[in-house]
Amino acid sequence: KTWHQTGLSTKILDTIKKLNYEKPMAIQSQALPIIMSGRDCIGIAKTGSGKTLAFVLPMLRHIKDQSPLMPGDGPIGLIMAPTRELVQQIHGDIKKFAKVMALSCVPVYGGSGVAQQISDLKRGAEIVVCTPGRMIDILCTSGGKITNLRRVTYLVMDEADRMFDMGFEPQITRIVQNTRPDRQTVLFSATFPRQVEILARKVLNKPVEIQV
Ligand code: AMP
Repeated sequence: KTWHQTGLSTKILDTIKKLNYEKPMAIQSQALPIIMSGRDCIGIAKTGSGKTLAFVLPMLRHIKDQSPLMPGDGPIGLIMAPTRELVQQIHGDIKKFAKVMALSCVPVYGGSGVAQQISDLKRGAEIVVCTPGRMIDILCTSGGKITNLRRVTYLVMDEADRMFDMGFEPQITRIVQNTRPDRQTVLFSATFPRQVEILARKVLNKPVEIQV
């Protein structure tokens, strides 16, 4: 498979070329057509497989396809990940594409000051990458004044098994409940234990399962 067969926009393909990513990795070849068709997707894949772009590239297209944008200033794409390091890494990958596409992305994570994150969120961003705990803190303390999830139509749970191991299930469930019911949802996990399967059944709608 080549990048040109994916149906991604010229702006995205140009950036991929600049990054010297010659061809899609296996998880990307499998996931891109499914996710870009609008289906929910469960991807069983580990770090290093190229999973990040497998959910980021369809998200960029999903957001760009919405014109005019729904009114509001909360994110349209929301990505949850277990750790600050992973949030920063995903945010870094998104930034490589977001600028040329005139989209903004705010990272939200615990263990560091909340003031910058709050002011970035208040300014409005189409994409938020977060750890579930800090995101809930911000949503609850502000009573919806800082940001809200009413516009979220593309939701990702990355490394779902690790988020469970870290006890984030209640926060994940609350976050999901605050997004739009007609959203598209994507779940990635290195393993697929029973508890993740139960969550997937609750949160995803007739998902297609892929594995690398
Ligand atoms: P990930 O599993 O998403 O953490 O990606 C692993 C690494 O592969 C990251 O450093 C990416 O920048 C890189 N990468 C992602 N897609 C490709 C690709 N199609 N070709 C080469 N490298 C890639």
